[in-house]
Amino acid sequence: MKQIVIISGKGGTGKTVLTASFAALAKNKVMADCDVDAADLHLLLAPDIKERQEFKSGMSAVIDKKICERCGKCIVACRFNAISEDFKVNSVACEGCAFCSHICPVAAIKMQQNVSGEWFVSQTRFGPMVHAKLGIAEENSGKLVSLVRKKAKELAESRNCDWVIIDGAPGIGCPVIASLSGIDCAVVVTEPTLSGLHDALRIIEVTKHFKLPVKLVINKHDLNPEMSKEIEEHCLKNNIPLLGKISFDKSVVEAMVEAKTIPEYKDIKVKQEVIKIWEALQG
Ligand code: SF4
Ligand code: SF4
Repeated sequence: MKQIVIISGKGGTGKTVLTASFAALAKNKVMADCDVDAADLHLLLAPDIKERQEFKSGMSAVIDKKICERCGKCIVACRFNAISEDFKVNSVACEGCAFCSHICPVAAIKMQQNVSGEWFVSQTRFGPMVHAKLGIAEENSGKLVSLVRKKAKELAESRNCDWVIIDGAPGIGCPVIASLSGIDCAVVVTEPTLSGLHDALRIIEVTKHFKLPVKLVINKHDLNPEMSKEIEEHCLKNNIPLLGKISFDKSVVEAMVEAKTIPEYKDIKVKQEVIKIWEALQG
């Protein structure tokens, strides 16, 4: 079984469109959406949720009003101003340090785990998919990504799958590092602009740091042929295999509006390009 992650130095480069295309083309696979802060693979794959679980992470203080004697000591003690004048804990402001629970003279404060989001196992028209949703203003997206990865891998192993196709988190932070651990190949999607090249190089540096195989795809390459050539030359010089290039085509947006992947849509040039990229990735 091979785990392939599709990543980009920033959002909006066509990463999810390519992931969904691979999902349509790969046989015998499990999909994992690790873009838990702004998941959108589900928009193209229309998952039917079969299993739903809470994601718990971090702790928050909770005041039992029946025990609380309203002495106000916890309000003064909390350096994060997380306890209001009416003895309520703001769970977003609470850092979970538990100090208040120790100084409360009547043990009215308990620490409890936060429910920070949810994760799901779903069925899609291309096979099973593990995905998640992090709550608003919640942290620990790296931990949730690791959980999604673990569940997707377990599911793929139990079904003897050949592939785990992972939509990685954008950027270069903790969630993307969690999307990269233990993968067999990272596919970096970039656009032919100076900032696109800069962002791609940053994420390639991250993959090299972890000694992971990395390959590149240039999306909308024909919008800026000079920059596209510059990226190709850079790949050649730095031993980064170029998997392929995808042309600009407004049909891609039309396909998205119809919630279809490129391989399912009209027979356009882009479709052949994406198929060639998938074949090159397997070769
Ligand atoms: S320290 Fe305890 S008793 Fe005092 S206000 Fe806070 S929760 Fe209530
Ligand atoms: S756990 Fe820490 S941060 Fe949260 S309310 Fe208590 S003292 Fe404040």
